[in-house]
Amino acid sequence: MRTISRPFGQFGSRQQTLRASLEKDRLDWLLLTNATNIYYLTGFRGTAGVALIGQGGGVLWVDPRYTLQASEEARGVEVREERKGLALAAARWVSKHGKGRVGYEDSNLSVRSFEGFREMVGRGVRLVPSRGLVEELRVVKGEEEVAAISAAGKITADAFQEVLPEIRPGARESDLAAELEYRMRRKGAEGAAFEIIVASGARGAFPHARASGKLLEKCDLVIFDLGAIISGYAADMTRTLYLGKPGSRVRSLYKAVLGAQQRGLQALQEGVRVAGEVDAATRASLRRRGLARYFIHSTGHGVGLDIHESPRLGHGEKSLIKDGSVVTVEPGVYLEGLGGIRIEDTVHVTSAGVEILTPASKSDWILA
Ligand code: ZN
Ligand code: ZN
Repeated sequence: MRTISRPFGQFGSRQQTLRASLEKDRLDWLLLTNATNIYYLTGFRGTAGVALIGQGGGVLWVDPRYTLQASEEARGVEVREERKGLALAAARWVSKHGKGRVGYEDSNLSVRSFEGFREMVGRGVRLVPSRGLVEELRVVKGEEEVAAISAAGKITADAFQEVLPEIRPGARESDLAAELEYRMRRKGAEGAAFEIIVASGARGAFPHARASGKLLEKCDLVIFDLGAIISGYAADMTRTLYLGKPGSRVRSLYKAVLGAQQRGLQALQEGVRVAGEVDAATRASLRRRGLARYFIHSTGHGVGLDIHESPRLGHGEKSLIKDGSVVTVEPGVYLEGLGGIRIEDTVHVTSAGVEILTPASKSDWILA
């Protein structure tokens, strides 16, 4: 079964952009094995497929489970069904039609598949690691992409606000996580972008604690880290609440983290575009309060089809936060015995400044 689709809308223009990058890197074809990159470039959302895109066109190989789906979804590539090894089918195709330099996704292709591919294409074809070429294209988001992340962010914030009344001493962390996911799905999310974190009391000192069977207790700090998916695009948001009337220590810690987050957002707003400088802004803000050593991770990361993508807003990071990218700003402090405080928003960065896409309150953090 063969179907030929014509380049179409956003997928067609992404393939054009890719072809320009391939030309710059003197590549004739790019072998795509990363399912997320294949979705980004062709619209095919199956989890198994191999594609080749080059100046001469594009081909997508799928196994029989996906033939029909690929024929309906994929744009700008010829869909071919293959029963015996997708990468090998692509290699056979290259040995027949392709010459010159073929890029491959070195951060995704297994050594075994690479060796099989190399053997099959034979001499005359030079295989070149692509070094995240498609991931680089994905950094700057188009209008449809920002709309999807924004919708995901709104659902995330709405679900959180709705569950607020259930967040009280005696509630189980894992029940709250389940409730949040249920609400996000009921509001139209395809699912949770990652396993929802609900970490209360001392457990909050582990930045990536999973929701456990622990019951929330009075005077617990509770970290909620969640995000919905819409059309494959994720949002990422963290809020921290306090159950009871906080003492001056907890109050000043919360104020410090909120201040650090605002410093990070302000840096972006003022046009700081070097990733490491945004990280430095949040870190300096915590340092002034003597809390820098409790901030044990990066300030943020890009968000899109993957929950963690380029750029990384980390210490000394030289990469640029391009206008049109979507990133998180999420400073936190983690104190053994006391717990953790993290505040995270997903934001769209443009030449006009930053727009917050996860609009849940950060000032209503005390549930007395
Ligand atoms: Zn998060
Ligand atoms: Zn995050």
